[in-house]
Formats: sequence, C-alpha cells, structure tokens
Amino acid sequence: MTKIGLEIHCQLTKLESKLFCPCKADYRGFEPNSNICPICVGLPGSLPRLNQKALEKAALISLALKCNVPGKISFFRKNYFYPDLPKNYQITQFDAYGHTSIGNNGIINIEGKEIRIRRIQLEEDPGRLIYEGSSEKTQITLVDYNRAGTPLVEIVTEPDFESPKQVRVFLNILVDLLENLGVSDPVLEGAIRADGNVSIEGGNKVEIKNVSSFHDLEKAVHFEITRQQSLADRNIPIELETRQWDDRRKITVSARSKEEEQDYRYFLEGDIPWVVLDPKYIDSLKKQMPESISSKKDRYIKQYQIPIQVAEVLSSDKYYSDLFEQSYNDKNAKEIANIITTDLMGFVDTKEKRAQSKLSSQHLSELADAIISNKITRNSAKTALQEIVQTGKSLSKIISELDLGQVFDESALLGVIDQVINEEANAVNEIKEKPETVNFLVGKVMKKTMGKADPSITLQLLKSKLGI
Ligand SMILES: [Zn+2]
Repeated sequence: MTKIGLEIHCQLTKLESKLFCPCKADYRGFEPNSNICPICVGLPGSLPRLNQKALEKAALISLALKCNVPGKISFFRKNYFYPDLPKNYQITQFDAYGHTSIGNNGIINIEGKEIRIRRIQLEEDPGRLIYEGSSEKTQITLVDYNRAGTPLVEIVTEPDFESPKQVRVFLNILVDLLENLGVSDPVLEGAIRADGNVSIEGGNKVEIKNVSSFHDLEKAVHFEITRQQSLADRNIPIELETRQWDDRRKITVSARSKEEEQDYRYFLEGDIPWVVLDPKYIDSLKKQMPESISSKKDRYIKQYQIPIQVAEVLSSDKYYSDLFEQSYNDKNAKEIANIITTDLMGFVDTKEKRAQSKLSSQHLSELADAIISNKITRNSAKTALQEIVQTGKSLSKIISELDLGQVFDESALLGVIDQVINEEANAVNEIKEKPETVNFLVGKVMKKTMGKADPSITLQLLKSKLGI
C-alpha cells in the first residue's frame, strides 16, 4: 500500500517581530542582510527571548487541528551545518522528554477520511540562499539572513495519504484553515511550504524536498510513486534517501542519504527556559479562536438557506466570508452570497485586485437590495459591481450614470421584441423545429436593452408573440 506523509512549514506572517529577537518578522522587501541583529545571526553572547505572540499563534494552530497542547513545552537545538544557518543549529522543538512540542496527536478530516497530525512545532526559519543562475551550475551563491529567525510552525502528518489527490485536497483545506485563523497569509511567496515522503509496500521511505508549489508537490509525489513501483517490479531495493524535485525536468533526483534523527544531535536549548502553559491560558486561547470554516458553512446553510456549494466557497475564503459577514441582513443574505460567488470572484481574483478594490460592505448590501426589489437586473448588477470595485462610487450614481435601471415598460420591451423578430427571420423560422432557439432571441433582446430587460419576462413575451 502506498503511504504518503507531509511536513508543512507555515510562516506566522501576521506577527510584528521574529521568534527570538525584535527584528521584523516581515523580511520581504528589505535590502539583503539589513533585517538582522546579533540574536538572529547567533553572535556570541546574544540571548534569545521567546516571542509570546508567536507561541499564542502556534497554540491556536494546534487547537484548531485538534491537537493536545501539553502543560509545558521546551525548545531544542537541531545541529547541522548549512550556510543559511548562521548559528549552525536551528532552535526548534523535539519530543525527547515526552510530548514537549506545542501540539501532538491532532486530526483533520478530508472528504470523509481522517488524516492524523503527529506533531506541531514552533521553530525559526533559516536564512535564504540565492544562486546566480541554476543551483547546479552556479559558481556564486549569495546568502541573505533577513529571514533567519522568523517564526515558523511545522505541521507533521502521519503517512495517512494514499494518493496525490488526497494530498492536494488536504493542503487546500489546511491553507484555508490557517488563513481563517489569521496566522498566515498564504498569498505571500514562501509563506506556506510543504515537503512530502512516500513509501510503497515493502520499500523504504523517501523524502521529497525543494518543491516550490503545492501543484509541483502533487506531481512530485505522483512521480515518486511511479519510480518506486518500477524499481519494485524489477526487484531493485528502494533506498532510504532524500530526493530533490527538479522543477525543469519534472522528476525527483537523489540528493543525499537520509539523516537519522540522531544525526542532528538534538539537545535542550539552555538559553530558553521551559514554558509552562497554564490551563487557564489555553482556555483563554480557545475563547479567542475564530469560528471554524465548517461551522460557518453550516450556519450559512441552516440560517440563510444558501446552497451547499455556495456556502463552501463563501466560508473557505476569509476575504469573502468577512465581506459577507459585514454586509448581510436576514433578507438579503442569499443574494449577497450569490453576488460574491458568481460575479465578485471574477473581479477580485488576485491579492493585488483585492487590495485595490473600492467595494464596501454597504455597496454589497445596497446592490443585493436593488436586485431583490427589481430596481436592477442581475446582468446590470454585474456591470454596476465592476464599476463599484474600480471607482467606489455609490450604486445610485452608477445606475444613473450608466443608465442601468431595469426596463419595466412592457410596451417598450414589446417594441424591442418586434425589432428582434424582424431582424432574426431565420431564427424565427427555425423555432417550430428547434424550440430552444427562443433563448437565442432572448439573448438578442437582452443585448439591445443593454441587459436591462428582465430575462424571464422577455421569454414569456417572446413565447406569446411567437405562439409557442
Ligand atoms: Zn534579529
């Protein structure tokens, strides 16, 4: 049986400072090696101090993933030499004296399957290596320590996945959950990264590193299953090793034989005392935990009769659910959900567009009310929405400026229908044999009225005119 496990690294991007020093947690956009201090580059005599907010966010993640959070936690030094790690050890967590990481034994449900979370640990991110050209051929490697010491939460799963598709579904659910918790911004480059490990029946575990996107991880896992199966078919043993994903060739290549835990010579970080987590503290965190995505979804379905698929989209994206929560009332909730998940999604599909959008919750509420009271058709509402997102003007101003008010006058509509029937003689002739042609004529009327006619009234009028 194929077994796949994951290690996910999530940067706590919402924090002000790094994990053990006052440097900025948001290292992006700085000159190389300017966001550093003696602590994060490990100069002799410097002492780390734990960022309490980082501890809080890591505990929130653990609770959200239904992990046990122990009564006291400790930090360890993981020793290894690599140029991006100026101290030659990483401050992380490790379970040497029972469970002393921030979380253990959690669970996430994906499509009816339970994925067990083995451990969650709070640790520091290393610096970054920058290669000139490709990493294999370059003569020059640069190092930037701005990222060194930024707070990271590592989530380690049990090898409970059986297919690359399950991996993808899980990662999507996890990313939405982390965003909903307000701990990380998944749109930021490198904010949430994942490595995988794969083993097939009777073979050793192979780790896959250096995967830059979830999409590539799915491909890498798929490649690795196929590679291992073909070795097994030829009775060639599968080595215990770490393999790198080669993005250009879309294959995994052997990187090094796998280190064992003892190779890292873990020992307690003596500069940081054990941290006691009082049950009252954990209770207070539980109270400040935001409503979960699944509970939001259930509430939207039960309270406002929003269809399941719409409720799923709305609840899983924090930007949409925040907009919805701020704009709905009992009468227009369903319509607002509809506007967000059908029209708005197309206008704010990137982080930049979201940041630039001038749409307010009041706009959304007014727009939904205008549709419900037949002041505007759905079609015109979409045009108005686009204008609002771009300009932030009031709905009434946009309706009058763009002349979007609904055409109600039946005689005016009948005039347009007569015109269309005259112009589209071929389609009218076809209608007896192909009744669905009437939709084509509705489309023509909508076009002539710039989308201001009510499509269902138009359809009725056309049918009675044509005697069908
Ligand atoms: Zn620092």
